[in-house]
Amino acid sequence: MGLIRLVIILVIAWLVYSLTRRWLATLERQRTQKKQPGSSRIETMVSCAHCGLHIPQNEAVQAGDKYYCSDKHRKLSEPS
Ligand SMILES: [Zn+2]
Repeated sequence: MGLIRLVIILVIAWLVYSLTRRWLATLERQRTQKKQPGSSRIETMVSCAHCGLHIPQNEAVQAGDKYYCSDKHRKLSEPS
């Protein structure tokens, strides 16, 4: 009977350990989720010089001081 009791204690200990870990992970996730809205960077929006479409600056095609939504519109506006 001693061995069974030991196994039961080990199972309970493991359950408590895994539940605590899961609980801590949930708390950590909630904390990081709360932090995100404040730390989320705002994308700089630019408008396409050809069609006026608004696109994030990192996705825009830049030509000089102008931005375009695609390489096609850059070529249409500046045929070279
Ligand atoms: Zn465009």
